[in-house]
Amino acid sequence: MARIGFIGLGNMGGGMAANLAKAGHDVHAFDLSGEALARAKQAGCLPVDSAAAAADGAEAIVTMLPAGKHVEQVYAESLFGNAPGSALLLDCSTIDVATAKRVAEAAAAKGLVAVDAPVSGGIAAANEGTLTFMVGGSNEAYSRAEPILAAMGKAVIHAGANGAGQAAKICNNMLLGASMVATCETFLLAQKLGLDAQTFFDIASKASGQCWSMTSYCPVPGVGPVTPADRDYQGGFATALMLKDLRLAMEAASGVSADVPMGAKAAELYQQFADAGQGGLDFSGIIRMLERKV
Ligand code: NAD
Repeated sequence: MARIGFIGLGNMGGGMAANLAKAGHDVHAFDLSGEALARAKQAGCLPVDSAAAAADGAEAIVTMLPAGKHVEQVYAESLFGNAPGSALLLDCSTIDVATAKRVAEAAAAKGLVAVDAPVSGGIAAANEGTLTFMVGGSNEAYSRAEPILAAMGKAVIHAGANGAGQAAKICNNMLLGASMVATCETFLLAQKLGLDAQTFFDIASKASGQCWSMTSYCPVPGVGPVTPADRDYQGGFATALMLKDLRLAMEAASGVSADVPMGAKAAELYQQFADAGQGGLDFSGIIRMLERKV
């Protein structure tokens, strides 16, 4: 079992650090929040008083932070200079592809090996250890990262070189955002055309319109499996986080001159939904805006 530094014990990182401790790793955990540190202690981690202290003596250092600027700052100010030369750096935050590549290059310049390893799955999956990790880095870095990530997830997939994990994450979420909007508007049209929602679900889930946003995460209450729609769109994957990922996708697309009209429309609609004060609702709640109930 390894000594692991863990930085960022929020909604996601708290459960992930707890799962590493449960797997028998010696987890030295840091967050700016005292409450998060206290929860980590209860979960079997050793709370430390700085990111530098979490890095000190670690074989691997996991970061789960809000955005690229936080990752870049923690790497530059606390990890480089404190992490042992043999340490593996694993950034599981969702950040922009350009920053992911830049921090990996900066790490390499210091003789450290880094991977980007963003996740699919929300807070429940982080707590249960059933996340999916998409990993960007060399083959050697991936083989070192895989057993650590496996303690926090159900699937660990090597996406390619540094930055490829973040690319896979934002491409996946752009598809998810666009397919959710399409699912919502389709059910609203079906309803206006006189179709019963459950009947349409039964037909489309066996026909070529089948997609995850409908069969696993139906935005219509009472239809399909239990989803946030059945709890008034509370919990689940917040609209603000979907919007963050769509913005990252738009930024990445413009950096490589990719034409993404459906992704761009989804980003515009999620921006409107967030601007209407609904950023905290699950992203499937956008059906309310399309229904003109928001
Ligand atoms: P969060 O805001 O709950 O947690 C972030 C934590 O980082 C906070 O506890 C904060 O205090 C800490 N932090 C910020 N700056 C720090 C610093 N300099 N040093 C130490 N700690 C610092 O966010 P979250 O929901 O846990 O998300 C974390 C990342 O995971 C984000 O990049 C997010 O996009 C991604 N993500 C979230 C979800 C989700 O459902 N919440 C799903 C997939 C991916």
